[in-house]
Amino acid sequence: MANLSYITPIEYLKGVGPQKADVLKKELQLFTIGDLLQYYPFRYVDRTQFHKIRQLHADLIGAQVLGRLISLKEVGEKKGKRLVGQFRDETGSMELVWFQSIISLKKGLKVGSVYIIYGKPTEFNGHISITHPEMELYNSTEKKVGNMTMQPVYSSTEKLKKFNLDTKGIQRLQQTALETVYNSISENLPQYILDKNKLIDHKKAMLSIHFPQNVNDLNAAIQRLKFEELFFIQLRLLRNKQLNTQKYKGHIFNQVGEKFNTFFNDRLPFPLTNAQKRVVKEIRLDTNTGAQMNRLVQGDVGSGKTVVALMSMLLAIDNGYQACMMAPTEILATQHYHGLKELLGDGICTVKLLTGSTGTKERRIIHQELEEGTLDILIGTHALIEDKVKFKNIGFVVIDEQHRFGVEQRAKLWRKNTIPPHMLVMTATPIPRTLAMTMYGDLDISIIDELPAGRKPIKTVHFFENQRLRVFGFMREEIAKGRQVYIVYPLIKESEKLDLLNLESGLESLQKEFPLPDFKISIVHGKMPVKDKDFEMQRFVKGETQIMVATTVIEVGVNVPNASVMVIENAERFGLSQLHQLRGRVGRGAEQSFCILMSGNKLSKEGRTRIETMVQTNDGFEIAEVDLQLRGPGDISGTQQSGILDMKIADLAKDQQILARARQTVIDIFKEDPNLQLEKNNTLIYYLNQRTPGIIWDKIS
Ligand code: ADP
Ligand code: MG
Repeated sequence: MANLSYITPIEYLKGVGPQKADVLKKELQLFTIGDLLQYYPFRYVDRTQFHKIRQLHADLIGAQVLGRLISLKEVGEKKGKRLVGQFRDETGSMELVWFQSIISLKKGLKVGSVYIIYGKPTEFNGHISITHPEMELYNSTEKKVGNMTMQPVYSSTEKLKKFNLDTKGIQRLQQTALETVYNSISENLPQYILDKNKLIDHKKAMLSIHFPQNVNDLNAAIQRLKFEELFFIQLRLLRNKQLNTQKYKGHIFNQVGEKFNTFFNDRLPFPLTNAQKRVVKEIRLDTNTGAQMNRLVQGDVGSGKTVVALMSMLLAIDNGYQACMMAPTEILATQHYHGLKELLGDGICTVKLLTGSTGTKERRIIHQELEEGTLDILIGTHALIEDKVKFKNIGFVVIDEQHRFGVEQRAKLWRKNTIPPHMLVMTATPIPRTLAMTMYGDLDISIIDELPAGRKPIKTVHFFENQRLRVFGFMREEIAKGRQVYIVYPLIKESEKLDLLNLESGLESLQKEFPLPDFKISIVHGKMPVKDKDFEMQRFVKGETQIMVATTVIEVGVNVPNASVMVIENAERFGLSQLHQLRGRVGRGAEQSFCILMSGNKLSKEGRTRIETMVQTNDGFEIAEVDLQLRGPGDISGTQQSGILDMKIADLAKDQQILARARQTVIDIFKEDPNLQLEKNNTLIYYLNQRTPGIIWDKIS
């Protein structure tokens, strides 16, 4: 077939055919020749260097050695049967071992000849050996010694291997693909951008990523392709943002009215922090532009996001609109409801709560008041999204703890008015800059990076199991001062039963150490009916109990300022961001608070790093950064479903600088040429029109 190109279906590539095409589609989602070419090696074997036998050790991933095969013999019986060769260079000797293909190897290998071998060294009793090495006869007349390049390694699957598509097989396909389409590969970045960022061209990069001649060659290709990938993601995100601004009108809040002012002047019990003031101001400016606001507020636990949300909602009401606030759990929604009512006091506006357990009668009243417009603020859970919930004129939506809600759910909120309401998304899980720029690249981001004054930083300490009595003693002292204590147990799905047991046996010993009637204990876990959970929660909130034993259900948002100690059991089993969230439950009052991380004596390296990080810093952004480095972008909470992080070559944990450069480049382009009409940006239009990977923010059309 003539004119094969990137977009030609993969079955038309020589050597593929319908069957292989089928597995390539199913196993690797490769549909076109372009997809194949973008299936990059996941690592490279450095065949440009040689090791001497004396330099080999078991930590090497692979090593290439030039030496002589001096003997070959079969040893062992039946299943233990293997072929063992002695291999020597001027620095020493080692064993080569084969368990398979013994007969053909015995025929093929030439004892006495010089070979270039490659494989992973292992060490046993101080002796080095390589199992199943790659063997290549050394040809002293050829200029090039062996296969002196960086050899690509592609990941494969069992299914693919059945069709001869192991790493070598895939490499052959890549070669065919490149030979076939090479001349039709066109540049996708404007030349001036390549020049400015010192990038090699696309064609060369595609060749070098699969067949690098040396390390420099490979690095240039990697730099170029990473930039390209991140650049186009940013191009789409920022283009999308621009389109949204043009397409969706926003409600205009052009006055600060009586309600806002009454609250601010007469009710607000504390001065706002500078960060809070700044964010309120950003929101005020945003909501007065005529475009719809989509703003993400990131602020560490306790930074005071709620009051910012409330003031924004009052702004909406002052301008004749209604507002709502959605939280991920009933506990949280309820707490927000009570918290906001208390802050507001009487007479400013009407607030109601709608959750799954709101009774039918109350529900009906709420629906009616919403439609009539007599209800100003509705707080609730997912129940808010239901189609039955209709507003007279909703102008402002707050979503708390953003990552628990999906895109679809947000979209439903958009549709609750003909002009979509302004959206304020609040998250207490700080997201590292690189992730935020990508996941929320089309949102505006506000950061509350300051805690209210007078708050003492939480002291975090790590104790091992055998120091438990000290911990109990400390708890007793704090309770004697009138404080309250959380004790949290892990609850990880695979072993829910075990964890519950853990909690129960922990509870038993606690009840002995902290007996009635002096001490009272609340228990909350995910297996309890919501009613009981709320009841227990409320007892603790009201100070009727001093100790709250819980699983991570208390993780999000719960606010008990009098609680000053957070004990986390099996802390090594929690992720960093979860630990940080949990710690954020204390330190909400004026007293010194403590977080005690309990762990067993054996800690994995990662577990230790997590605990040490927690002990060293209270800064959520710093913690998020460590988390990203430890786990990679795919595992950071909230990123899983987004899809946008499935990158082919860029790595958000490592490529922060490239990302920043790519994003800035896009910003500059749009500044100069908002609709990409300049000749020099032609290539970009073409690329934007091609199939686009998922855009995170909702597109309503
Ligand atoms: P989060 O950002 O975690 O949602 P909250 O909004 O729940 O934090 O605020 C935590 C606590 O701090 C609440 O008790 C709130 O009333 C209080 N708070 C908020 N802003 C301030 C401030 N500027 N000064 C003092 N206390 C504040
Ligand atoms: Mg909150």
